[in-house]
Amino acid sequence: MKFINEVDLKGKRVFIRCDFNVPMDENGNITDDTRIKAALPTIQYAIDNKAKVILASHLGRPKGKKNEKYSLRAVAKRLSTLLSRDVVFISDLDDENELKKLEGLDVGDVALLENLRFYPGEEQNSEEFAAKLLKLFDIYVNDAFGVCHRKHASVYALAKLAKVAVAGFLLKKELEYFAKIFEIKEKPFVAVIGGAKISGKLDCLVNLLDKADKILIGGAQAFTFLKALGYETGKSLVEDELIDEALNILNKAKTLNVKLYLPVDFLCSASIDDTVNTCYCTYQEIKKDMMGLDIGPATVKLFEEALSDAKVVVWNGPMGVFEKKEFAHGTNKIAEAIGRLKALSVVGGGDTAEAVIRANQAHNMSYISTGGGASLKLLEGKTLPAVEVLEEKE
Ligand code: AMP
Repeated sequence: MKFINEVDLKGKRVFIRCDFNVPMDENGNITDDTRIKAALPTIQYAIDNKAKVILASHLGRPKGKKNEKYSLRAVAKRLSTLLSRDVVFISDLDDENELKKLEGLDVGDVALLENLRFYPGEEQNSEEFAAKLLKLFDIYVNDAFGVCHRKHASVYALAKLAKVAVAGFLLKKELEYFAKIFEIKEKPFVAVIGGAKISGKLDCLVNLLDKADKILIGGAQAFTFLKALGYETGKSLVEDELIDEALNILNKAKTLNVKLYLPVDFLCSASIDDTVNTCYCTYQEIKKDMMGLDIGPATVKLFEEALSDAKVVVWNGPMGVFEKKEFAHGTNKIAEAIGRLKALSVVGGGDTAEAVIRANQAHNMSYISTGGGASLKLLEGKTLPAVEVLEEKE
């Protein structure tokens, strides 16, 4: 795979597929610009090397229709501030007059296209849509790690069609960190896996069994394991159809001598919305009408101890319903425990990245991925289709 610094950008129209899928409040204000900032090194490099820079991204799920709620206009504004230069906004890819604005770009100028997902061809991986984008540039750069696990037109069909298609610095960094956690020889390698559903993490757990020395399981998926072991899990989130699979994982861990830790206590409540009438209970004591919504203090101690000698840590999935402060304690404590380590610590994107930021531990992690789904695919040991396309290029 080639990278942006291996091609001559001077005077060329350089299309950079970014991941500007940032969270916004109800008034359309960007609430976290981490993803925009993460793309700046590649954009600045293109500017410094005298390219005419054309940026593109998706935002949210507008489902192939124009919808102001998902417009990238606010991103253009934020980019303009961060780059200290004007950013030309192309508000409609079907409007020739709008596209004409790109012809006016000088070297070092920057333009941003409107949300690619306003056009049905994007998610359909349409060659026709890709061919339309292809006309706009000379060099294609993919820096959108967060969508590399998808076969969408701007990261797949377009990269195939482009004469020159290379990766940006963010994509490079993401791939390097995930490769590093599997290649590094230092031990122990501890994987911390939480979140809502075991189904979404199953392949990841199976792959990690071959690599990790310890696996710590938190979040709702712990309950499928506990139910598999015959314990009452009350109203906690359980995926009954995966109970056998959970048992398989427990058995395989034993065979492979991987230490698999399950929570030993929980903070429970009758519902996710009842943050007042809560109680702690051990894993043997979950009542029929209660659900576990966070790991308890004994589990925090157990997990802290299990993490204490870690040399490599990968974390994907919160330990509880961290969005509510009453159920965020366990997640915060684990973030702090990982943050204290002198280890290579890599955090999956999405909710886990958000949880680390809320716990004020972002600065203590070696790397926080910008892509939830894409990083999970790498933890599953799979390749990313949009990366494969770049690798196939000459
Ligand atoms: P995931 O996308 O699979 O990493 O799941 C993240 C979600 O898991 C977050 O929104 C958490 O609120 C949720 N979660 C974590 N622990 C629990 C739990 N014990 N019960 C219900 N939801 C949980």
